[in-house]
Amino acid sequence: MMSFDLTGRVAVVTGANTGIGQGIAVALAAAGADVALVGRTPAEETAALVKAEGRRAEIIGADLSTIAPVGDVVAQAVEKLGGLHILVNNAGIIRRNDAVDFTEEDWDAVVDTNLKSVFFLSQAAGRHMIANHAETGQRGKIINIASMLSFQGGIRVPSYTASKSGVAGLTKLLACEWASKGVNVNAIAPGYIATNNTAALQADESRNRQIMERIPEGRWGSPADMGGAAVFLASNAADYVQGHVLAVDGGWLAR
Ligand code: NAP
Repeated sequence: MMSFDLTGRVAVVTGANTGIGQGIAVALAAAGADVALVGRTPAEETAALVKAEGRRAEIIGADLSTIAPVGDVVAQAVEKLGGLHILVNNAGIIRRNDAVDFTEEDWDAVVDTNLKSVFFLSQAAGRHMIANHAETGQRGKIINIASMLSFQGGIRVPSYTASKSGVAGLTKLLACEWASKGVNVNAIAPGYIATNNTAALQADESRNRQIMERIPEGRWGSPADMGGAAVFLASNAADYVQGHVLAVDGGWLAR
């Protein structure tokens, strides 16, 4: 079990104030990591939960709708917590509209946040992790949050599907480039998880019923359900896992 231990590691989790980001931040802390909580809404509640696990938490303000803050996020995490070993690219948004009516604004907002910022924050973190691996031999771990729409088409979410399919491709590309440089790059593809992101679907009685009927587990997932996969991919237990998109979906894709 020691290979799952994250003691002494520093993790950066984006979009950590709520939902899946909060669930993953707390799970990483429970496994021993100190956590930098990055986002546009201060993650006070998550910081308290990380500290309750006996780990350090630092809140870093950043609006990831542009790539302007990416260098500062890495610099602040390293300065405040003494390193950067794990990056979880979780922050993301969704816009819903019929493809025939979809606007350029809804395209750009989603692709910029969910894909462009993921690449450039990974680049900034990857530079640090590659240098750290050359110096200390310690591996870096990048975990992207993908989606069922990294595998499937979906409906009424064209920019989201494009961005999450892009995240799956980017995960594989970065794994190919950085595996030999001491960085593991993988993704978690959550199924249907009860968060703000899916509030509209949960509230729609007929979509909610259709979704529940298709999930073999028979329930929506919770942010805590993502924790085990995140700890695994962040740990030495996954040192030989590269470019994988791990579905944590209650069996949705198996149907
Ligand atoms: P959520 O509760 O809406 O959380 C999204 C997080 O991203 C929030 O912390 C949000 O901050 C942050 N964020 C959004 N735009 C940002 C920006 N410009 N700068 C900084 N932070 C920003 O939804 P969630 O379900 O936990 O989503 C987390 C990730 O999982 C997303 O990438 C999402 O696409 C993905 N995902 C979710 C599901 C699901 O079923 N819920 C399934 C597959 C994938 P604010 O609170 O300040 O907005």
